[in-house]
Order: sequence, then structure tokens, then C-alpha cells
Amino acid sequence: MLFILDNNFVLDLIARRSSNFGLQLNLLYFLLDKGYAAISSSQLHNLRYVVMRNYPQYEADYLEIEARLRIIKTPSYVDLNHKLAIIDIEDYLIELSAKACNAKIITSDKQFLANSELAMTPVETFNYLINEHREIEFLSLKRINDKYSVDIEHSIDRVLASGWYLLGNEVKTFEKEYAGYIGTTYCVGVANGLDALRLILRAYKEMGIMHEGDEIIVPANTYIASILAITDNKLVPVLVEPSIETLEINDTKIEVAITPKTKGIMIVHLYGQCAYTEKIGEICKKYNLKLIEDNAQAHGCVYTEPRTRNQEPRKTGSLGDAAGHSFYPGKNLGAMGDAGAVTTNNGELARVVRALANYGSEKKYVNNYQGLNSRLDEIQAAILRVKLNYLDEDNEKRRNVAHYYLENIKHPDIKLPVVTDWNAHVFHIFPILSPRRDALQQYLTENGVQTLIHYPIPPHKQLAYKEWNTLSFPITEQIHNEVLSLPISQVMNTSEIERVVEILNDWRR
Ligand SMILES: *Cc1c(COP(=O)(O)O)cnc(C)c1O
Repeated sequence: MLFILDNNFVLDLIARRSSNFGLQLNLLYFLLDKGYAAISSSQLHNLRYVVMRNYPQYEADYLEIEARLRIIKTPSYVDLNHKLAIIDIEDYLIELSAKACNAKIITSDKQFLANSELAMTPVETFNYLINEHREIEFLSLKRINDKYSVDIEHSIDRVLASGWYLLGNEVKTFEKEYAGYIGTTYCVGVANGLDALRLILRAYKEMGIMHEGDEIIVPANTYIASILAITDNKLVPVLVEPSIETLEINDTKIEVAITPKTKGIMIVHLYGQCAYTEKIGEICKKYNLKLIEDNAQAHGCVYTEPRTRNQEPRKTGSLGDAAGHSFYPGKNLGAMGDAGAVTTNNGELARVVRALANYGSEKKYVNNYQGLNSRLDEIQAAILRVKLNYLDEDNEKRRNVAHYYLENIKHPDIKLPVVTDWNAHVFHIFPILSPRRDALQQYLTENGVQTLIHYPIPPHKQLAYKEWNTLSFPITEQIHNEVLSLPISQVMNTSEIERVVEILNDWRR
């Protein structure tokens, strides 16, 4: 929620001259505390000018308020023939700013109120806020990106002004920064997470390490993209059951699935939790298998070797031979569109992936491979650079939500996730299990708590893989029947978190 304060609203308060001073003052501080109060950049000079000229004794008061306001952009696309523009150009610019940022306007100016759909009086604003008993959203991407809107606006302007949209400096710099963050030598930006995984396997084929018909071990409960990346390369996915405790691939069931055709293991750090174990590392070494990480859900997750605790902890995405990352908007590090990356320490693999993602070409119009077009673009890279700065802080906030849920949700029909190592979890999803899952989801919906199911149909039951429909993976199927994802994100506030817990604990036993 965002409210632009019209000049008269601010000046009435500064000059203590409004008829309902108390209400306006309360409203102002409520909006400032919530981060909902804004002005358009077009108002700044006029506000400062009037304060200095008419109320110099209150200049400090004004500047204190100004410092806490969000300054939002005034668009360049003005229509000087617009009705409001003809009546009052300043009001018109405020209205344009409000439209651009999906904000409302608070004003006492009768003319502005009469000529704008977005303007409301302070009293109307109060009523609006009281009636706005919001649902607890599963994930508010708008709120997440709003937090960084100034930096994001700046980064998009930079790309716009540069005139360079693909294969430029933003991507190059992001790749360097992200490789540094994950702890690998190489990072290659690609178009999305599915392509990142497809390209890794495709590169191994081009390099002669994998061949059509080779087998790749993959967890049976994962988002379908992990498996699509394998079959797209005409490799054969071999599904392995997860553990019902961690919901990650069960490392004691991997070895029996290995055949002479097995060439790799794709682990998926599902829900934001590290799926890697020492045992998986040992199996890869013993059978000479490539370890590929699907790190779409676990940016920032840290793995600590249990036996060598003082050894430098490593991030998921740097634990195997190569990793695919997705920056789909809803992921912990999310772009504003599709985006992805491959990380690896293998220079040859990075080179082949980069070529494959660019028509199989390393030199313009010279094609060494039958590649595809899967590039990260400059705008997405520029946005990701902004958000990467806050990733650790955001993940910490997710952990705090998870911590509160784990401590306070108490219900005999709800099984909470088991967390053994807090660093090894970034809570992309907070999954609970309940044998009465569908009833629980309906109950939460009725009480204004949005939930989702990750995922309702296991890959082996999908029409896309008809040939597997009769196979049985009882633990995977149990998870798909019982799992429910609670709202979790870096922008949930305390009252929302508490309300989710209260509503859950009140569920009929
Ligand atoms: C999101 C996701 C992907 C695919 O990423 P896209 O960017 O949407 O293509 C792959 N694997 C997992 C586990 C995911 O959650």
C-alpha cells in the first residue's frame, strides 16, 4: 500500500492549521511507520520552498518527515491536454506518479478531489485503512520488490540509458558477483532454470561424457523441471524415493539404483533445504558420476561438512560438478521475468554451456554446436544485482518466520518440517504434512490464509510421463497427498505470522 501526501496535507500539519489536526497527525505517523507514505519527486521543490518561505521555524520538523517519506518517480509520459493538467499541472503530475506506482493520494483540496479517481480525504483514508482487512497472501511479489523499488528503478534506467540489452556489462558483472557469492569459478547467465539444467546435460553430451540413453538419478518428488531437463536430452531419469523426514532424496536408496548406464546424480535442494550429504559425495566418487545440483529453490543455502566442521562452509550450487539456478520471480532470488544461471568450477563445461546458450557460437556467425537461444538479458541481470545484495538478509528473515512457526504451531494433525542445520535451509517453502491436508487448506482459505501445494501431482503420475503412471513411489505419493505450503517470505510482518499460527492452532481436532 502506498499513499502520496499532497502538499496541502503536509503543510497543514507543519503549520498546525488543519481542522482535524489530531486525526491527520495520527494518520501521518501510522503511514510513516508502515512505510506507506510517499511524495512524488515533482512535489519536492515546491514543498521545500513553501516551508522555507512561510514556516522557517518548522523547517526541522519538515525535514524530519521528508526523510521518512518514500520519494516516487514522476513519469516522463505527460499529456499536457489532460483535463487535470489544464486545471493544475502539479496535481496532474502527482496523479501520474500515483498511477505509475499503484498509489492513492491524500488531499484536502476540493478541486483535486473532484477531478481525480485516486484522491481521497484524510478521513476517507482512515476508513479505507480500517476496512482493508487483508488476506494473508502466500507470497506478495509486489511487496518484495517494492522494498527495492528505488534501486531497481535506478538499475533499469541504467540499462535503458546504455542502449545495450544483451550480452553486456550487467550480465558480465552479475555473473562475476553471483559466482563469487556461490563460491564457484564460473557462472553463466541463461534464460531460466529449466534451461540451466538442460544446458548442463547437453554440454556433458557435447563433451562426450554422457550419451543418449544414459541414466541420471533424480528424486521422485521434485518440480517437474528437474526431470524435463533429463528427458529433453534423451537421457533416462531414474527416480529415487525421498526421506519422509527431510523430504529430500534418500541417500540410502541411491546405490541400488545405479547401473552401468548411470552417468550422473541430479540432487534437488527442495524447498530450500540442502539435499547434499557426504554419502552422496562418496557414491559419486566411487562410481565416477557427475553430481548436478538443481539449486532453483536454495540460493544462499550453506552446507557444512559434519566431520570437518571448521572447514570453510560451502554454498549449495558449489557442492557438485555443476548447478542450475532459477531466478523465476517467486524464487528466493527472483528477477522480474525469467532468468537463470549455471555455476561450475569446470572451465570447459562453462565454455560449452555459454556457447550452447548462444546458438552454439563462440565467435559471431561461427557455430560449433547446434545450440539454442537461452540468454540472460541485461535488465534482468541489473535487477538481480540489486537483489543479490539483500539475499542473505532476506533469507535470514525467512528463517525467523520458520523459527516462529516451528516453535509455536502445535496441532496433533500437523507434522512440521525437521530442521537439523539452520544454515542449510533458506525456506523457499515451509512445507507441513497433514493426513487431512485438503480439509486444512479449505479451513485456512476460509480464514484468509492463502496456501499452495508443492506439488499436487508427482512427476510419475503426470500425463507427460504416461509410461511411469503405473509405477509406485509410496513416500513420494504420501508427500504429494499430505504436503501444504504455509505463507513464508521476507516481507511477512509479525502480526501476519502470529495470525497464521493462531488460526492453525485453532483448527478443529
Ligand atoms: C523453479 C524450478 C525450476 C525451473 O526454473 P524456471 O526458471 O522456472 O525454468 C527447476 N527446478 C526446481 C526445483 C524449481 O523449483
